[in-house]
Amino acid sequence: MLRLGLLGGMSWESSVVYERLINERVREQLGGVASADLLIRSFNFADIERLQAAGKWDEAGSVLAEAAKGLEHIGAHAIVLCTNTMHQVAEVITAATTIPLLHIVQATGEAIAKAGVSKVLLLGTKYTMEQPFYKDALAHDFSLEVITPDEDDRRLVHDIIYNELVQGVIRDESRERVLGVIEQAVAVHGVEGVIAGCTEIELLVQAEHVGVEYFPTTTIHAHYAADYALTGKGS
Ligand code: GLU
Repeated sequence: MLRLGLLGGMSWESSVVYERLINERVREQLGGVASADLLIRSFNFADIERLQAAGKWDEAGSVLAEAAKGLEHIGAHAIVLCTNTMHQVAEVITAATTIPLLHIVQATGEAIAKAGVSKVLLLGTKYTMEQPFYKDALAHDFSLEVITPDEDDRRLVHDIIYNELVQGVIRDESRERVLGVIEQAVAVHGVEGVIAGCTEIELLVQAEHVGVEYFPTTTIHAHYAADYALTGKGS
């Protein structure tokens, strides 16, 4: 089994879910007392969030790339960046290491293609919803039509992520508001699926709440990473 290097803590509320899901997948496949072989670098999210808010993506990229190099140095065979937003700097990490970065958009795009969905609503931080790195990769690599909420709703989702979910706060009222955003996208744009494109969203909204196909990126990415560790191949 290959050893995965996790870049986590962004936020730890979802990183702990990655760790559990990867271990559960390994136990399911190998049985007995088997568990995943992991190296975990968990950041203080306050430091990362400050760089995001200041638009210092180059600096954030250097921080993550240094950490990825460190994980490679101590024996990681692949890097798992446990956040959608920070895939903004995925190329900086890839350039700094010689091991693969198991990209969250690749994992998610494959899951959407497998479900036969072509028009999706993307929910995430404002960086993920507004900047091109995520939407363009889905459109270009998987021929998906990617819809994002209007400005007010983007702010709503972003604020729920930063003011509640990364701080461990789960509110029924916020779930209802996110579900309202989803219902509107289904009614207005006819989206066939929803990407929970922030690793904390699935702590709030699960598949049973959503009337269309649901793509929770923590679960998808964690399973993709576990399968890579077990087989040496992407799914
Ligand atoms: N975990 C989130 C994501 O998947 C948001 C926190 C962050 O900005 O890293 O985008």
